[in-house]
Amino acid sequence: MSITKQQILQWFENCHLVLTEQRDYLTQLDTDIGDGDHGLNMQRGFSKVIEKLPTVEDKDIGTILKTVGMTLLSQVGGASGPLYGTFFIKGAQSAAGKENLSAAELYQCIKSGVEGIVSRGKAEIGDKTMCDVWLPLLQDLADADEQTAISDLLESAVKKSQEYLAATIPLVARKGRASYLAERSAGHQDPGATSTCYILQALYDAVK
Ligand code: ADP
Ligand code: MG
Ligand code: MG
Repeated sequence: MSITKQQILQWFENCHLVLTEQRDYLTQLDTDIGDGDHGLNMQRGFSKVIEKLPTVEDKDIGTILKTVGMTLLSQVGGASGPLYGTFFIKGAQSAAGKENLSAAELYQCIKSGVEGIVSRGKAEIGDKTMCDVWLPLLQDLADADEQTAISDLLESAVKKSQEYLAATIPLVARKGRASYLAERSAGHQDPGATSTCYILQALYDAVK
């Protein structure tokens, strides 16, 4: 079983829907430990993505992912725009020319994307960023049985991501604006780790 281009397009429609629904919640989280714009950043970014998608829907998955990444990079300010932009631009390289993605190809996309986030943001596990969801998740995918169906892989990724997200609450931020608060950032859930969970859920919803 593989992911179709149609499912990839649906992924971004779902991202737009969930990030619109959760805009105020993400903004609240970012008000607690940042500058209160994360919900708006994500909602605006994916509404621009939705505007752009019709121009590339006949192209290969690599082109679609690259367009999503370039749109987020150019339209979203703050830390999250360049980081998510890099995720999709780097992921696109592993999907160049493809109309479907096998589980192994999807893993490669996510791996390249996460490596892009890390090389841009330099965050490690425990720094209280979106990497606290992405990095353990990548390890789970690497450890998964090769025979596992994509929908089952993503279902367990969504479940695990909730644990990784909750684990950001007690952490003291060492990257991004929340790090300015030092010890006072503890006790709050990281906004970017939260939006990462929504993006994963959106992917699962597109393929289940
Ligand atoms: P800004 O902080 O510039 O206003 P956002 O509010 O849109 O940008 O995004 C904040 C989120 O970005 C944080 O919650 C965190 O998850 C993520 N983030 C910030 N800096 C980094 C970094 N260096 N590496 C990874 N993620 C980061
Ligand atoms: Mg912010
Ligand atoms: Mg900001």
